[in-house]
Amino acid sequence: MGIKNIAILGSTGSIGQQTLDIVRKFPNRFKIVGLAGGKNNRLLARQVNEFQPKFVYSKHKADTPSSIQWLTMEEIASHPDVELVVVATSGKAGLVPTLAAIQAGKKIALANKEVLVMAGKIIMAEAKKYHARLLPIDSEHSAIWQCCHGERARVARLVLTASGGPFYRYPRHRLGKVTVEDAIHHPTWKMGKKVTIDSATLMNKGLEAIEAHWLFSIPFDKIEIVIHTKSIVHSLIEFVDGSIKAQLSYPDMHLPIQYALSYPNRLVNHNIPHLNLVKTNSLVFEAVDYKYFPCLTLALEAGKKGGTCPAVLCAADEIAVDMFLNRNIHFTSIAEIIAETMNLHQSIAYPALEEIIVADDWARKTAAKVARKRSLC
Ligand code: MG
Repeated sequence: MGIKNIAILGSTGSIGQQTLDIVRKFPNRFKIVGLAGGKNNRLLARQVNEFQPKFVYSKHKADTPSSIQWLTMEEIASHPDVELVVVATSGKAGLVPTLAAIQAGKKIALANKEVLVMAGKIIMAEAKKYHARLLPIDSEHSAIWQCCHGERARVARLVLTASGGPFYRYPRHRLGKVTVEDAIHHPTWKMGKKVTIDSATLMNKGLEAIEAHWLFSIPFDKIEIVIHTKSIVHSLIEFVDGSIKAQLSYPDMHLPIQYALSYPNRLVNHNIPHLNLVKTNSLVFEAVDYKYFPCLTLALEAGKKGGTCPAVLCAADEIAVDMFLNRNIHFTSIAEIIAETMNLHQSIAYPALEEIIVADDWARKTAAKVARKRSLC
């Protein structure tokens, strides 16, 4: 196995930083040739200094050695020197760069779930056309992907596991009063703030169902969601003969990231703890109470309707979560804002990319307007 030249889009975020942990651990396997960061310029500067990439993108250009080329994310994602692109951006920021990587026939380790949620049909069609390979990083999709290896049989159903987030079994009447601090404290996973709030509302699981629908070409009625609070079984797949395969490990994103980077090989990494089955004791699965998690229902509805609906869902969610994190709205208003925005939307059944981007823009403005009525400030 030669050295793999990697670019990370979103290197300063949670997944980006964990990807760099893996690269740091295996300097003879992986080399960073491109880094793209968001708002955290200081951290990006430190990463650039440590990994000496050829290409860098940042919203704010800084003073760096002349050997570094400043490129756009699309230019980095499609550059001939880049073999594998890790898309670790969040929200819609990853959409256009992912398409650029696909059209350049790259391997793409995808952590930005909104890319497939917003434009799954286009992304999958383009990936086929340009022979690009999508390698999932999201732990549930990595689990399913790993379980599919070596199988040709038809799939009877996919089972996505959900931790339930910090408010599982929380008294329903008190949900309106939960604070940002309560919500960003996830019981099992350490993640970025946006995805942690999405986990608390279970929007995250809805987005993952849509992502799974596109990645594994599986209809929604064959995707089941179960609560599994320990986050040890990352997802399961049932074949037509009734046999179920699952992937298990402690909840640590380093493992699915490393697998996407090293695929089809597996690497020994002592920094990733191995599962102690005896200590784990019991694995419990419970049904989802959909009434308790309206965001999950909204996401599944949007996924089934398709067209521009999932893009509107994502955009309204981004606005609502941002407002909650800024303490402008109650936790329970997140679902209300998304529902109202989706009700106002006139969906386009088979949108082109430009129409998806227009729908996203419309939804952001509409959600902000809808949210104002619920603003606490
Ligand atoms: Mg996940």
